[in-house]
Amino acid sequence: MDLHKIFLSDSLYTKYGINSFSEDELLNILFHNENSDINKIKTLDSYCTVCKKETTFISSDITTINFRETLLQITDRGIDSVDNVFNFLEECGTFERVFKCPRPGSDSNHNHVYVFRIKDKELIKIGQSPSIADLAKKEIEKYRSFDENIYKELNRAIGLSSYGIGVGSYVYLRRIIEKNIVVPILQGLLEKGEIAQDDLFQSDFKKKIDLAKDYLPEFLVSNKKIYSILSKGIHQLEEKECNDSFPLLRTAIEIILDEKIEQQKRDEKNKLIANELNKFK
Ligand SMILES: [Zn+2]
Repeated sequence: MDLHKIFLSDSLYTKYGINSFSEDELLNILFHNENSDINKIKTLDSYCTVCKKETTFISSDITTINFRETLLQITDRGIDSVDNVFNFLEECGTFERVFKCPRPGSDSNHNHVYVFRIKDKELIKIGQSPSIADLAKKEIEKYRSFDENIYKELNRAIGLSSYGIGVGSYVYLRRIIEKNIVVPILQGLLEKGEIAQDDLFQSDFKKKIDLAKDYLPEFLVSNKKIYSILSKGIHQLEEKECNDSFPLLRTAIEIILDEKIEQQKRDEKNKLIANELNKFK
């Protein structure tokens, strides 16, 4: 299992069967464990929202439960089997991991904090600061200057998904395709008389994409399935199924948006050069 992913990108309240981890892996997630050779999570590569820079955060020992004390208690109580270690950890309450920004002068505002608990033989990430949505703001910032509405819808989708609300996140992703990308083009075609009002009433959405295909990002036209998957998610899939596929669909939407931004840049450049050429007599 990718332990870093649990910290960095998995949504809150995702449950992991405790038996899917080795004892070492579980202790690594729950505790700062500096002196151990088994430590797999000494650092996390993420984004510092204070420095506004990509940062390698360093695991810190300012935690609620100390690793050595816990091991001592496990030894003192004569806990020997893995199952009993897991039971003991379940009784411990919450586990906090703190990762510090290493830049000189960084205070606790720069820290990334993660909180876990074990319940019913499952590991659950119950808290995270900064939130996944806050961290994603920087990744999707380029869409804000392209279209403020699209930026807001995408940020809401990421926010909902980060709380495990998979179906709700699909609603916002679908709105980006439908309301912000396809419908405005169809409206334009309707006004120019290139399509008729009846076309819009009769068509299902995939057919609407075909009607507007000459003006839409190529990736959307050749992958109309994106829209069907989002619709299926909203109407038929479970939260978890939606959440599991969210990163894939988010990337697909970002590819479509990137294509639109490229197109806009190309159009602006073409217009500029055409204007300059027209100045020659
Ligand atoms: Zn920082």
